[in-house]
Amino acid sequence: TGTIPTTMRASVLLKQGVIEMQERPVPTPGEGEVLVRVGSVGVCGSDVHYYKHGRIGDMVVTAPIVLGHEVSGTVVGVGRGVSEDRVGDRVAIDPQVPCRQCRQCKTGRSNLCPFMEFYATPPFDGTFCDYVTAPADQAYTVPDSLSDESAALLEPLSVGLWAAHKADVGPGDQVLIAGAGPIGAMCAQAVRARGATDVVVTDFVDSRRERITSFGATRALHPVADAEEIAALRADAFIDCSGATPAVLSGIASTRGGGTVVLVGLGAEEMPLPVQLIATREINVTGVFRYVDTWPRGIALTTSGAVHLDDMVTARYPLEQVEEALNADADPLSMKAVVVVTPPESN
Ligand code: NAD
Ligand code: ZN
Repeated sequence: TGTIPTTMRASVLLKQGVIEMQERPVPTPGEGEVLVRVGSVGVCGSDVHYYKHGRIGDMVVTAPIVLGHEVSGTVVGVGRGVSEDRVGDRVAIDPQVPCRQCRQCKTGRSNLCPFMEFYATPPFDGTFCDYVTAPADQAYTVPDSLSDESAALLEPLSVGLWAAHKADVGPGDQVLIAGAGPIGAMCAQAVRARGATDVVVTDFVDSRRERITSFGATRALHPVADAEEIAALRADAFIDCSGATPAVLSGIASTRGGGTVVLVGLGAEEMPLPVQLIATREINVTGVFRYVDTWPRGIALTTSGAVHLDDMVTARYPLEQVEEALNADADPLSMKAVVVVTPPESN
């Protein structure tokens, strides 16, 4: 793996809309940590949001920050207490670093840890750089058959896996998903992997509806033109991946009695609640915030071929072009942009 340099390249968001390449010290892995040479980093809507708006809700960019959190790479160093055998492992990183001490952490809800540190969420730097550190047990070794890009996309897949888990999807279920973006596509694949047989995905964008049938959807419908067909559904679960009020309201109305509504989309901050429907149908409404312990399943599902992540990548950029990568969503055909920090052949 060669020697580790003392400095590295980092693509830094100085403030809203301004990206600069900087030279920074290579981080030192602490106790229980590994040092990872970054391979691929997927671009997430949240990276784009920080870049274009300088904030997401009350998380505000007040100091320069490195974006990127969907990450894979190769272990090149270990901290105290970590076996040297890890060096050379190709890994995918679960970017959530919870405290492991609080009540939420101890009861299996580490995603809700109030002391969470997360790549690319102020004030923590992310992974648009050559090297990052991570807790050794959160750098999951991936098989050779999994590409760097697929390994990075285990992060958004994890959102889908957790949503499918919260929706309690089972074999033969009908699932309605609003929004055919990357997260909707991950949810569609995740619910198919749990045995859902009728997966209906809605989106206004023609190209996204056309494409979604190769990512798990069995039917792709237009929210307005196909409104009658959507209204007639009585889905076992509805997963919103649009954040759009009309989609959430029509999704709740299309959920069967005793079914589950999972809100993944973070769009409108508040929406009217159809209390009568929810009460008389005893619909369970829940949210999703990231995921808990989804990497082992994600690796198993992608390795077995039950889930396809490679086909989702629509554009690739080198580290020098993070800005272009963050603007890739301007292309309506864009699904997932990836920043290739270290090309596979040299990693
Ligand atoms: P995206 O913007 O690429 O996709 C959203 C899609 O919803 C778009 O294709 C849009 O055309 C479609 N849409 C808009 N209005 C609609 C309507 N009325 N009916 C049907 N579709 C409609 O975003 P993404 O990256 O796929 O992420 C989806 C959402 O998930 C975002 O709101 C994002 O913030 C959220 N998210 C949440 C978590 C979490 O942990 N809760 C994690 C990741 C992303
Ligand atoms: Zn905690």
